[in-house]
Amino acid sequence: MKQYTSTHPPRDRKAYKKAYDQAHRAENAAYRISKGEELKAKKRAYYAANRERILANVKKRSDANPDKILDYQAAYYEKNSEKVKRTVKAYRKANPLKKMHLENKRRARKFNNGGSHTLDELIEKFNQLGNVCFYCGNPGKMTIDHDIPLSRGGTDGIDNILPACSRCNSKKKDKTADEYIQKLSRTNHAAIGGVGWKPQQKYEGR
Ligand SMILES: [Zn+2]
Repeated sequence: MKQYTSTHPPRDRKAYKKAYDQAHRAENAAYRISKGEELKAKKRAYYAANRERILANVKKRSDANPDKILDYQAAYYEKNSEKVKRTVKAYRKANPLKKMHLENKRRARKFNNGGSHTLDELIEKFNQLGNVCFYCGNPGKMTIDHDIPLSRGGTDGIDNILPACSRCNSKKKDKTADEYIQKLSRTNHAAIGGVGWKPQQKYEGR
C-alpha cells in the first residue's frame, strides 16, 4: 500500500484504499477488536496533540456546508429526540447558572454598554453575597440583576452584578438597586425574605 500511494495520484489512491479496505474488511475488523484499547489510546493522544487543528478543520467544513449540518442535526434529533431532550434537561439542571450566564451575556451584548464577567466571577460574587436575593433574602433560585440596569447604561461588569430572586428582579425593572431598596422600605416589603431581613444592611456590607 505504501509503495502504491507513493507512485499514484491522490484520486487513484482513494479508490485503491476503498477497494483494499473492502477486500480486507473481516481482517480489519478483527484487528480493531484485538487492538481496541491501544487504538483508542492512540486516537486520544492524537486528538490531544492536534486538537486546535482538528477543531479548526471541523469548523471549516461545517462553515462550508451549513445546510448539510442542519440536515444532519435535524435527522439526528428526529432519531434521538428523547435522548436529546433528556440530555439538555439534565445539563440545564446541573448548570442553571451557566445557562443564565450565557443568556445574560447575549442580552448584555445587545445593549453594548461595555463590561463583562466570567461564570467564575459570577459564582464568586453570588457566594460572597450568601447566595440569597440581594433585596429580600430569598434563598431560592437566583437570577442575574444589574445594579444599574442595562437599559439605563449599566455595564455587565461584575461590579454591577447582584443576585436577585426572579420576583425582585422583575419588580425592580428599570430601577437601580438603591431606588428599588428605597421602594422596598417605603412599601414595607423589606421583610418578605424572612423576619428582620433588611436589604439595606446587606447593601452597606457589599
Ligand atoms: Zn427577592
